Amino acid sequence: MSKPILIIGGGPAGLAAAHSLGTVGKQSILIEKEDRLGGAPILSGYAKLVPSGEWAKDAIGGMVKRVEDNENVRIETGAKVVSFNGEPGNFTAKLSNGNTVEAEAAILCSGFTHFDSVNKPEWGFGTYEDVVTTTQVEQMISSGQGVRCPSDSRKPKRVAILLCVGSRDRQIGREWCSKICCTVSSNLAMEIREELPDCHVYIYYMDIRTFGLYETKYYWRSQEEFKVKYIKARIAEVTSDGEKLIVKGEDTLVKRPITIPFDMVVHAIGMDPNVDNDEIANTFGIDLEQHGFIDVANRYGVMGATSRPGVYVAGAATGPETIDDSIAQGHAAAMAVLSGLKESAKSA
Ligand SMILES: Cc1cc2nc3c(=O)[nH]c(=O)nc-3n(C[C@H](O)[C@H](O)[C@H](O)COP(=O)(O)OP(=O)(O)OC[C@H]3O[C@@H](n4cnc5c(N)ncnc54)[C@H](O)[C@@H]3O)c2cc1C
Ligand code: SF4
Repeated sequence: MSKPILIIGGGPAGLAAAHSLGTVGKQSILIEKEDRLGGAPILSGYAKLVPSGEWAKDAIGGMVKRVEDNENVRIETGAKVVSFNGEPGNFTAKLSNGNTVEAEAAILCSGFTHFDSVNKPEWGFGTYEDVVTTTQVEQMISSGQGVRCPSDSRKPKRVAILLCVGSRDRQIGREWCSKICCTVSSNLAMEIREELPDCHVYIYYMDIRTFGLYETKYYWRSQEEFKVKYIKARIAEVTSDGEKLIVKGEDTLVKRPITIPFDMVVHAIGMDPNVDNDEIANTFGIDLEQHGFIDVANRYGVMGATSRPGVYVAGAATGPETIDDSIAQGHAAAMAVLSGLKESAKSA
């Protein structure tokens, strides 16, 4: 009798993989360490998503419901895999909740961890209450509270968004570009201007990477329609004069020092490898790439292959990814699993 497929992680990638397998009648077990499904967009309370403009709770919430309603998907929340042995077609996994399950293959959809801004102390996070992260601003908007300075709940009149916090920064061991934060920040800037039309929003950048078709919808629109100001700068530090936050740095276009006061400073935080990746690599016997994300062994032949046959990977577990690409990879990994099983049945 055929065994189910293990899917680790219930974010957009894992939900897509479970949905794909379920719709073709293949059973899966979706294992999520938190107490609910949805991944970062739900667990971190994202607001309106790039590029669809849909609320995360509706778009990703819909994906969760579709999987919860699928009778081919068994869901185990609050659980992790603690051991994984066997070979393709015949694996046995022990779960942290005491269950033992058998599986024909596994898809790792274990995602990423948000960069913790305390690792960039010179930019004021953890020292000043009104220095916040993009996820905190997303939560202010998605909760309906609106964008407010945490220190006294006032509406900010001047907001600075600092890009590349925890990305493209060799000094703190993060060389990668997190891919989506330029676009997310342009989007957030427009949302702030929409809610607070009197608020001036500045984006401090090294380079702008609103890649592909996002240039028109986010980069140009935010300037032309929403009057968001972009400053190409190297930031030295974020301090306070007791009343305002002070962002100090160098305007790298005119090569002059700049010091500007703000009410709120937002760190556009990047995507770190999942903090569990060493544990996941040991448990599943797979390789990580040089930065600590899960290594993809085959880019063109078998979608989502890892270094271990029968174990696949999809989404931001492989490196910074957008939601739509994570979803596409989840579907593709499900397809790769099915064709891998067909191939091994033929050769058996
Ligand atoms: C501030 C910010 C805003 C963003 N906004 C957008 C946006 O608007 N549009 C967009 O396209 N992208 C956006 N992104 C990127 C988006 O978050 C990712 O593309 C997406 O979350 C990746 O989905 P995933 O399923 O691969 O991983 P995740 O969403 O990280 O889901 C992984 C899941 O696996 C679980 N898990 C982790 N480890 C284990 C384990 N050991 N065992 C069991 N379960 C585990 C986690 O709890 C989580 O539920 C944003 C990113 C940031 C940082
Ligand atoms: S997407 Fe933009 S903000 Fe994010 S790391 Fe790349 S350049 Fe920096």
